[in-house]
Amino acid sequence: MDTQRLYDISKQHMWLPFTQMKDYEEAPLIIESGEGIKLKDIHGNEYLDGYSSLWLNVHGHRRKEIDEAIKAQLDKIAHSTLLGAANVPSILLAEKLVEIAPDNLTRVFYSDSGAESVEIAIKMAYQYWQNKGNDKKKRFVTLANGYHGDTVGAISVGSIDLYHKVYGSLMFESYNVPFPAAYRHPSSDAETVKQESLTALRELFEDRHEEIAGMMVESMVQGAGGMNVMPEGYLKALESLCREFSILLVVDEVATGFGRTGKMFAVEHENVQPDIMTIAKGITGGYLPIAATMTSEEVYKAFYGEFSEMKTFFHGHSYTGNQLGCAAALANLDIFENEQLVKQAAEKAEYVEQLLQELEKLPHVGDIRQLGLMCGIELVKDKETKEAFPWEERVGYKATLKMRELGMLTRPLGDVVVFMPPLAASYQELTEMAKIMETAIKEVTSLHAPETAGK
Ligand SMILES: *Cc1c(COP(=O)(O)O)cnc(C)c1O
Repeated sequence: MDTQRLYDISKQHMWLPFTQMKDYEEAPLIIESGEGIKLKDIHGNEYLDGYSSLWLNVHGHRRKEIDEAIKAQLDKIAHSTLLGAANVPSILLAEKLVEIAPDNLTRVFYSDSGAESVEIAIKMAYQYWQNKGNDKKKRFVTLANGYHGDTVGAISVGSIDLYHKVYGSLMFESYNVPFPAAYRHPSSDAETVKQESLTALRELFEDRHEEIAGMMVESMVQGAGGMNVMPEGYLKALESLCREFSILLVVDEVATGFGRTGKMFAVEHENVQPDIMTIAKGITGGYLPIAATMTSEEVYKAFYGEFSEMKTFFHGHSYTGNQLGCAAALANLDIFENEQLVKQAAEKAEYVEQLLQELEKLPHVGDIRQLGLMCGIELVKDKETKEAFPWEERVGYKATLKMRELGMLTRPLGDVVVFMPPLAASYQELTEMAKIMETAIKEVTSLHAPETAGK
C-alpha cells in the first residue's frame, strides 16, 4: 500500500472530529487493522487500545462471535426502516435491554449515537409534560461540567465551556447546578461537598419546579468533564429530589453503561431508577453505531393514543434500528452473559486501582479518579497547591503523544489523562499500559517543570 498517498489524501481532504487539523498534520495516525486490544497502523506499528477506541470497545477488536453475528445478519438483510415497521434483531435486542436495565425501564427507542439518544430524551421529556396537559414544564437542569454529546440540543444540557461557549446563542438555556467535585473544593470533607450541591439543587427545585421538565445527569461519573466521580449517596439523593418535585430524571449512561463501572449500568451502584435512560457506546461492543433511549411505561403511555390526539413522538432517522448493529449488540450481550464480564470487569478494576497507586506517587500527578474501568489521571504543575499547568503547554496532550510512541493510544481531557481499557484487557495488558503511562507522564512532566525534575 502506498502509505505516503494515504497521508497526503488524509491531510488534503479529511476533517476529523474534535480535532485541530494542524495537530493531526503534525502527528498523523492511520489505523489499518486491529486484533484483541491492539490496533495496527499502516506501517505495522501496534498500539494498546488504552481508550477503548474512544470509550466504546468491550471485548477487543475482531471478536469472533460479533464478527460472525454481523456476517450472518448480512446474509439476511443489512437494513430496513424502523419507521412504522419493526425488524427481527431490533425486537430481540429490545427484550434483552429491558431484561438487563433497571426494572422500571420497559421501552426502547433506538437511534445512532449517544448525542442522538440524548436529543431524544430531551424531546421526550419536553413533550411528555405537554401530552399530560402541562404547558409549563419546559426547562432542564444540568450539572456543571456535564457532557451529553455535541449536537445543539445535547450541548444545551451540557456545560463544558471549551466545547459549548462558541455556540452560546444557538443553544436553549438550562439551569446549572454545581457538581460535587472533591479535588479542588475548599472543604476536604466529601459530605460537605455533596450537601452543597444537593442544597443548591433543592433550592432551585423549590423555586422553579413548576417550569422544570427534567434533570439531565451522567450516571455516577462525569466522563468528558474530567472523569469526576460522584460521592456515595449523591445520585440517590438527586433521584429523591426529582421525585419530590415531579421532575423527570434523565440519566445518561452512554459512557458508563455495559459494565464500564463494574456494574451493568452505573445507576446500580445507588439502586437508582431513571425515568429515561440513554445508552450507546458499549452497546455493540464498540462495533456499530447503535444507541437507545429507554423509558418507563409511564413515560411511554403519555405518548400513546389515537393519532388525532397528537401525542405521537415525531423523531427517527434513516438508519434507526439498523439490523447489522442490533445483531452485533445481541452478540455483544451474549458474551457479557457467557463470560460474566461485569463481574470480571469489577475484579480488574481493583487491580487497576493498585496499578494507579504507583502513578499517584509521581510528583505531577495531582489526583486519580476511578470508578470501575473508567479512570482519569490529573496532571498538575504543583501537587501541593493543585496549581494546573498553563493550559497552552498542553501537557496532557503531550503525555498522550508520548504514550503513542511507547505503544498505547488514548486521548486526554485537558490535563486529565483518560485510561479506559476494553473490559477484555488481560491483567498483563493492564500492567503494560500502566507502565507506559508512568514512563510517559514522568518524561513529559519533567520536561515541563524542570524545577521539580527528579524529585
Ligand atoms: C460520548 C458521550 C455522549 C455522546 O455520544 P456520541 O455517540 O459520541 O454522540 C453522550 N453522553 C456521554 C456521557 C458521553 O460520554
